[in-house]
Amino acid sequence: MSIAENLRTIQNDLPEHVTLVAVSKTHPASAIEKAYSAGQRDFGENKVQEMTDKAPNLPDDIRWHLIGHLQRNKVKYIAPFVHLIHSVDSVKLLREIGKRAAQNNRTIDCLLQVHIAEEESKFGFSLEEIEEVLRAENFQAMEHIRVVGLMGMATFTDDASQVQREFATLKKLYDQLKQQFSSTSNWQPEILSMGMSGDYELAVEAGSTMVRVGSAIFGARDYS
Ligand SMILES: *Cc1c(COP(=O)(O)O)cnc(C)c1O
Repeated sequence: MSIAENLRTIQNDLPEHVTLVAVSKTHPASAIEKAYSAGQRDFGENKVQEMTDKAPNLPDDIRWHLIGHLQRNKVKYIAPFVHLIHSVDSVKLLREIGKRAAQNNRTIDCLLQVHIAEEESKFGFSLEEIEEVLRAENFQAMEHIRVVGLMGMATFTDDASQVQREFATLKKLYDQLKQQFSSTSNWQPEILSMGMSGDYELAVEAGSTMVRVGSAIFGARDYS
């Protein structure tokens, strides 16, 4: 199957309100061009260096999504152009994004990454921490950032019921925070980013509005 065919198959699977982010990490610009020619505009990368290497050589109307862990000292490289940062996992990082956004005269949209998987991970806020972030005065006063939702990754497992449970947990948190902080200007929930190649159908059933799909579009990644 070609990249264009894979894209079409997945798009046909997705309801209209769900945005497909094509995760192009490790794949060359030529693969991105093929997807672009098929109409795809949202692309996800997990490394700053890879994104800044690729972006200048590709069309300007691509929306670049940073989906991997982001170090504070690298925010400046993507601040001029990044469309959405999915992987915000600390308030310090959020502050740095605001600072760099200001220097570029823009506002940067972010998602808070929530740790929902059973697997140990260094990254992502706990369910409880998210509420503290949104409640904090220093968050509410931040300029040049907008938190537009949450991102999460389910456990890598064949156990569909576990994956469903984890996605449902994130959806519930999202809905609760939507209500609870409806008058917080920096919190403008529009996006629930969950679902990858192996589990996007379960994610969409659970209420995802943005899926991040790599290998099902571009084929297996070669890290060698
Ligand atoms: C790599 C990656 C994806 C896509 O994974 P696939 O299984 O190839 O679809 C999605 N989200 C994040 C955060 C990733 O790092």
